[in-house]
Amino acid sequence: MANLVKKINFNCPECDQNHEVEVYEQKTQSLIEGTIVEHKETYYYCPIEDEEFIPAKVMNQNLLEARDAYRINIGRLTSTEIRNIRKMYGLSQKEFANLLGWGDVTVQRYESKTIQDETYDQKMKLVFENPQIALTELEKHAQKFDTERYLEIYQKITQLIKKKSLKYHKEQIIYASYVDFNKPSDSNGQTRLNLDKVNNVIHYLAHCSSRLYKVKLMKLLWYSDSLFYKRFDKSITGLVYKHLPLGAVPIAHEDILDISSDYINIHEEFYEDYIAYRIESKNPIDLSSLSRQEIDVLNEVIQKFDKLGSKKISEYMHEEEAYLKTHDNQIIPFSLAGKIREF
Ligand SMILES: [Zn+2]
Repeated sequence: MANLVKKINFNCPECDQNHEVEVYEQKTQSLIEGTIVEHKETYYYCPIEDEEFIPAKVMNQNLLEARDAYRINIGRLTSTEIRNIRKMYGLSQKEFANLLGWGDVTVQRYESKTIQDETYDQKMKLVFENPQIALTELEKHAQKFDTERYLEIYQKITQLIKKKSLKYHKEQIIYASYVDFNKPSDSNGQTRLNLDKVNNVIHYLAHCSSRLYKVKLMKLLWYSDSLFYKRFDKSITGLVYKHLPLGAVPIAHEDILDISSDYINIHEEFYEDYIAYRIESKNPIDLSSLSRQEIDVLNEVIQKFDKLGSKKISEYMHEEEAYLKTHDNQIIPFSLAGKIREF
């Protein structure tokens, strides 16, 4: 089954003229290191000659896809992941290789063709998880860098160390606030708190909403978890929500917004007698921790409420049984939240 991806003008080798060719993608199998892997393959089609062909550049891309499929199968970093780790430290391919004490072209090879062996893979994973290790490596291989560049990289790494440890501490604060909800229960929608999911959900809601403010985000979170609970008897994120005058708000919501700063920007907007916090998504959207069903529910919530402001949603929420049957500051149980009206 091939899918037509696009049509492009191309210097066609089949009929030797520049014309519109069709670009297709299909699933295929390749033999890598003695193992058959399934992966995506791209090919071109010339409608004039009725011939399929693969330009050299695309052929390389297909090979990369095959090797990455193999890497995923055996739990190694893909070429893209390697590139992302390197970019996280702001390094060129040669610099990243030198930082790790490897030959100049090692990283370039890993990003383009060669599959890294396990020792090299482990080292890159460690450097990704712990910038402190990157710092140790930099100090060990300092002679590979000129002084100016050394200082730049040193600074970049120490920034990352600070950022990571701050995030770690904030996460600990959030987990401490949820210590009474460590087990699946009616308070957390039978789901333990999962901060990766919280981040991905906030990011997605921010990404897909046309205008999103902090107060509205809290309500969208509650409706997302509640609707998912209604459908599947469990919530998405494991957040625990309290009944507050303006609506449902998750416990530790300020800290939760803090750790989302990799995904969203919060702008303060000043009005006569209040400040509004507008939320904008940044970076390419990351949905890695969410299932198809979860994303479908998020889409339903966005569709239902996108055109409504915080006040309108608040009024709507006040009519829910979950809200009528709880009082100020009380935790809203999911047995009630799951009874929200159908959209
Ligand atoms: Zn042609």
